[in-house]
Amino acid sequence: MDDDKKGDKKSAKTLHHNTLAVRSSVERSQFGENSEALFLTSGYVQPTAETSARRFSGDEEGFTYGRYGNPTVASFEKRLADLEGAEACISTASGMSAILMMCLGLLKSGDHIVCSQSMFGSTIKLIGTDLAKFGVESTFVPQADTDAWRNAVKPNSKLLFAETPTNPLTTLCDIQQLASLARDAGALLCVDNCFATPVLQRPLSLGADIVMHSGTKYLDGQGRVMAGALCTKEEIIRNSLTPTLKSSGMTLAPFNAWVVLKGLETLDIRMTAQASRALSLAKWLEEHPAVKRVYYPGLSSHPQHELAMAQQNGSGGAILSFEVRAECATQARARAFYVLDMLTTLSLCTNLGDTKTLLSHPASTSHGRLTEEQRQMAGITQGLIRVSVGLEYLEDIKEDISRGLDSFT
Ligand SMILES: *Cc1c(COP(=O)(O)O)cnc(C)c1O
Repeated sequence: MDDDKKGDKKSAKTLHHNTLAVRSSVERSQFGENSEALFLTSGYVQPTAETSARRFSGDEEGFTYGRYGNPTVASFEKRLADLEGAEACISTASGMSAILMMCLGLLKSGDHIVCSQSMFGSTIKLIGTDLAKFGVESTFVPQADTDAWRNAVKPNSKLLFAETPTNPLTTLCDIQQLASLARDAGALLCVDNCFATPVLQRPLSLGADIVMHSGTKYLDGQGRVMAGALCTKEEIIRNSLTPTLKSSGMTLAPFNAWVVLKGLETLDIRMTAQASRALSLAKWLEEHPAVKRVYYPGLSSHPQHELAMAQQNGSGGAILSFEVRAECATQARARAFYVLDMLTTLSLCTNLGDTKTLLSHPASTSHGRLTEEQRQMAGITQGLIRVSVGLEYLEDIKEDISRGLDSFT
């Protein structure tokens, strides 16, 4: 068994991540199953009372109770850690609970977080409002302005938290610059890698300390289950995150872990194919007379195109947004709604990272709770439509979007 483990460690260093995406897991059971098994069990039978005691105290590895660990969950964690190039990974019930676990595990009252004002809406709410109740301070800065990040850092700053590219306007931040800022400040940098995934961007290799995931999005990739994860150093997980997981119970369900584990096997080919469709769609939209502006990092018109190409493995990702041309906000909203209501194949759905193409109207959904002034400042106009590009045939995607758009020309 020890020899197997050594073999495992060696292979994790030498195999390509595309191989690890289909191969990394805990050891097979005695049945030799080729596809990783789904272990639905909340408890584990202990061989002896002495072993049980050592496992509970952490002196020996081994499963004890479902809230603390599960072999299927462990396989997902191992596979994602290998894909992100991380020492280890700890998974949670959702992306938001990964963020909560990170904050509960690493911060205390009086600590300070710096993050972008363009973060995922629930992230802003969790950090700015819920954690504030427990004395954790926060400052929100413009996404792409590294000087603003630098100026926001205070002696009590413990965490810089970035998300790149952002939703829905695909603004990037420079991970390497933020990582060096965090190092100078003695703080940790966490990157929400939900949009790019390790296929396009590996933040740890750029100096980030923690990668956060909503497994609900591209990792599952087929819009089925909720999941979340943090990838980082083993020491951080062992000392700061596992204790929080054990006491808070934000545990990922084995079934969900199994679904996402299998999703990871096709992550690379899905991301590559979806990003390629997104680039073609973005170019086509940019030429469309009824479209005012397209936001997509893969276009040379994107203000951070060069950074995107360098930081995201030469790809713009699979999400884009576009603004429908209109005379005023009222007309823009009506036109955006018309485009969405004319869809017959694609989905009007405020999720992302699915093999099905999903369109949404951020101003009335994900960003609907902002005031009109906040929305204008954030660039979330009434004519804006977000597209999470899936795997349908490109011409069918264009045709479905054209149905509404063409009537304004
Ligand atoms: C969806 C999402 C989250 C939250 O993840 P859940 O799994 O829905 O809890 C966090 N960050 C980004 C960028 C997301 O898109």
